[in-house]
Amino acid sequence: MLTPIAGKAVLVTGGSKGIGKGIARVFANAGAKVMIAARGEDSARQTAEEITAAGGTAAYVCGDVSDWADVQTMVEDCVRKFGGLDILCANAGIFPQTKIIEMDPDDWDKVLATNLKSAFLAVKAAIPQFEKAGRGRVILTSSITGPVTGFPGWSHYGASKAGQLGFLRTASMELARYNTTINAVMPGNIMTEGLTGLGEEYLETMTASIPLKRLGKVEDIGNAALFFASDEAGYITGQTLVVDGGQILPESLEAISEI
Ligand code: NAP
Repeated sequence: MLTPIAGKAVLVTGGSKGIGKGIARVFANAGAKVMIAARGEDSARQTAEEITAAGGTAAYVCGDVSDWADVQTMVEDCVRKFGGLDILCANAGIFPQTKIIEMDPDDWDKVLATNLKSAFLAVKAAIPQFEKAGRGRVILTSSITGPVTGFPGWSHYGASKAGQLGFLRTASMELARYNTTINAVMPGNIMTEGLTGLGEEYLETMTASIPLKRLGKVEDIGNAALFFASDEAGYITGQTLVVDGGQILPESLEAISEI
């Protein structure tokens, strides 16, 4: 049993949909106050309302995680509304699929800005709050794609997700002086609106390649993030946790067909 995180203020970027929504729900169910940040107001408001209707505490703020002024506003709104910032879940990300030969240099910049620069901006904006509180927690949503695996069309995405882990290792040292840990969850294929858009065939072949024979649930990632946010995980920093149903393990088609 983990020490309850009830009353802690959590900022979840990309908390309006998919994995971020799952993280927001898991933290709200654990009694935390959740600030949802995303660009689109309708889905952010709807998610905050759903959480509130279910008995949780949530609010939302709109902005772009790749924009420094917007990220500062996300942290400020969390502090204004909930009295501080205890836990940062830097989760927002995009995964457009484009092969290198067809990729416009601007496509590369957009993915790196949204997925990687955003982690730096969010941590930078959060540090003064962690310093004030004398402790803090950061959880990044990375991926297996990039750090461990590859997939045609996701060179920019894979680079951004591997880059997050490079950032993480040095950030863990710099954040230690604020008694703050930073760790990353590396999801496999998780059922989200974004993933559904990749089509039925993608989902079927992907499920067949996973030893546990199902795609992940957003709560699977939320629960891993909740663990990293707990008091009990206070001596873990700069680390990663793969949550993928065993997807990265089979070394061949034969290995997976044996299951
Ligand atoms: P999703 O369903 O498309 O949700 C993405 C969320 O991020 C939305 O709330 C979106 O809201 C927000 N967002 C996107 N760009 C943003 C920006 N520039 N500024 C602020 N918010 C932004 O995606 P997901 O599948 O949940 O993915 C979430 C994270 O998990 C990403 O970092 C992704 O790389 C990672 N991941 C996902 C999977 C998977 O299987 N789904 C696997 C591995 C890793 P708005 O569009 O309204 O801004």
